[in-house]
Amino acid sequence: MSTPTLDLMDYSDVIARFEPVLGLEVHVELNTATKMFCGCPTEFGAEPNTQVCPVCLGLPGALPVVNEKGVESAIRIGLALNCSITPWGRFARKNYFYPDQPKNYQISQYDEPIATEGHLDVLLDDGSTFRVEIERAHMEEDTGKSTHVGGATGRIHGASHSLLDYNRAGVPLVEIVTKPITGAGDRAPEVARAYVTALREVLESLNVSDVKMEQGSLRCDANVSLMEIGAKEFGTRTETKNVNSLKSIEIAVRYEMRRQGAVLADGGTIVQETRHFHETDGSTSSGRIKETSEDYRYFPEPDLEPVAPDADWVEQLRGTIPEYPWLRRARIQTDWDLSDEVMRDLVNAGALDLIIATVDAGAPANEARSWWVAYLTEKAKEREVALEDLPITPAQVAAVINLVEAKTVNNKVAKQVVDFVLAGEGEPAQIVESKGLGMVSDDSALQSEVEKALAANPDIAEKIRSGKVQAAGKIVGDVMKATRGQADAARVRELVLAACS
Ligand code: ADP
Ligand code: MG
Ligand code: ZN
Repeated sequence: MSTPTLDLMDYSDVIARFEPVLGLEVHVELNTATKMFCGCPTEFGAEPNTQVCPVCLGLPGALPVVNEKGVESAIRIGLALNCSITPWGRFARKNYFYPDQPKNYQISQYDEPIATEGHLDVLLDDGSTFRVEIERAHMEEDTGKSTHVGGATGRIHGASHSLLDYNRAGVPLVEIVTKPITGAGDRAPEVARAYVTALREVLESLNVSDVKMEQGSLRCDANVSLMEIGAKEFGTRTETKNVNSLKSIEIAVRYEMRRQGAVLADGGTIVQETRHFHETDGSTSSGRIKETSEDYRYFPEPDLEPVAPDADWVEQLRGTIPEYPWLRRARIQTDWDLSDEVMRDLVNAGALDLIIATVDAGAPANEARSWWVAYLTEKAKEREVALEDLPITPAQVAAVINLVEAKTVNNKVAKQVVDFVLAGEGEPAQIVESKGLGMVSDDSALQSEVEKALAANPDIAEKIRSGKVQAAGKIVGDVMKATRGQADAARVRELVLAACS
């Protein structure tokens, strides 16, 4: 099925002769509670055709209504990508016949997209930055999902029948389209991966989508063409569809560069077509001949009001755009004075956001870090859940840390408090109170325990009296045991030394 590797040019030969041009189209499914033009729920994984209504099934007479939250997310995406937000724009009908689209048209935006003319500065592996220009971001609705049954490949070819699930039909999508990316040279595959990686992080930080490539809430189509170095006009592009992981984007772009290089060097021409990516061997194969926009007979959607976000609202949304995640990481690393290695471990452990939230809730950075990477990581492993899925909030962790700082509990008891929080027993302060876990700091109570311990260990008491202060450890340990670990060990030590002086 896939093109034999014989037809690939050596990558270095491609680079020596051609300049690659890329265009990346990313579809992101928004995480709104309801669909873009009706009130149906959007939850992933429900029984087929249980989340549908006359609007998203395209029944005659049903009228769509715009989801305001969907527009808000689209504007925030546009702002985060440094785009201008269009003050007035209409939806458009994109007409085509396919069973996964029950209306026989998709509501999209065509020449009046919500966001235009932006850019994203993308961090490459060597720490340098590459600017990707954004052409537009527009709103549209997702299609249903077809499953082709009976064939070997899951494709329609060879299938005995197809199943259609319209739960996804009408789920809000934002499509983000780059301008042609030139000047990346041999780094084109890396730039493609780095761009989608950065975009995914931005979308995640905006909290507008699940951004799960494996579930299809983030999908990337990669356009690739080659032109002879020094040529004035772009070559013909192919569009590789739905490449489902970040690594695959890099592989797909590289493959297309090598395939097209071989075709062109052989005097052939590139057909403008969509191509399928094959995860198994990293190749692409011919899909369908690309439609042109005329084929879609776009026209303004007559059933919907134009989208006209007022300037105040846009400005207010601008205020909600967070710092880019990679800039925030760099700032935190400097602020907390962390090595690259420690930083990488925190990020990989999924601990960074939790630590930041714990610090924001009033805990010192070092303490916040050590709780999340040590004790809580251990607990997450025991329960086989992600750190962020532990049933304890950063605010609760900060409360525990503050109980230690205030000497209400010591570190050992603090772990018990955390265990109780994890067991769903309530808030830290209340747990300390109800379980009687507060530190025994009443000197007279401690004093009598110290005297008891000294009397039970006369030889050790004698050593301490003769100046061997390190022997005090055993007495302190006994007192801690007698108080079920709830005494302030430093204070106990002071009392032991005072009693022996
Ligand atoms: P389509 O309707 O074919 O999906 P779009 O305009 O949505 O077209 O997306 C095409 C993408 O390809 C854009 O990112 C665009 O910048 C890019 N592009 C356009 N021409 C070329 C070319 N010759 N080579 C590579 N990419 C291109
Ligand atoms: Mg497109
Ligand atoms: Zn519906």
